[in-house]
Amino acid sequence: MNVCGVRRALLLVLGQKAQALELGEGEYRSVSNVFAVPSVIRLLYLVKRPLFTRRLSRREVFWRDQFTCQYCGKQTRELTLDHVVPRVLNGPHTWENVVAACVPCNHRKAGRTPVQARMRLQREPLPPRANPYYHLMHRPLPDEWSIYLPWMAQRRPAEPAAAVGSVPVPAQA
Ligand SMILES: [Zn+2]
Repeated sequence: MNVCGVRRALLLVLGQKAQALELGEGEYRSVSNVFAVPSVIRLLYLVKRPLFTRRLSRREVFWRDQFTCQYCGKQTRELTLDHVVPRVLNGPHTWENVVAACVPCNHRKAGRTPVQARMRLQREPLPPRANPYYHLMHRPLPDEWSIYLPWMAQRRPAEPAAAVGSVPVPAQA
């Protein structure tokens, strides 16, 4: 549903607003206590959360196009944002009219449409679909999260972990 910091997760568990399902590595130390680190928690109340819609930006367009020039198909980190119908020809700044283009292709196309420049798009540019797992993309995921992620799930979710934090481990001197 979302990713939060250890401190927030622990506060939710200690405040009995959430239940720890999986523990992570390491521990969290407060002034007087040491707590096991919850890695997966389940909220005990219902939260409505809108799907992430992606704001149109260079970065997001490059991700959508998988860092691939949409004209020649070259995969590169040196990309430019190309307006398929150029801005000077009143091409809009929308998902459907922007693509990733390598520098040579962008130069070659210049202020022309693909037809005028005799260049072909590899595929039709579309807005990315709203993805409920968007906040999990492009980051390393701890192993214990895998069973909660449909594309990784191989075993059933665990029973709740022994009430994390409700019995604080005393700090060692
Ligand atoms: Zn290219």
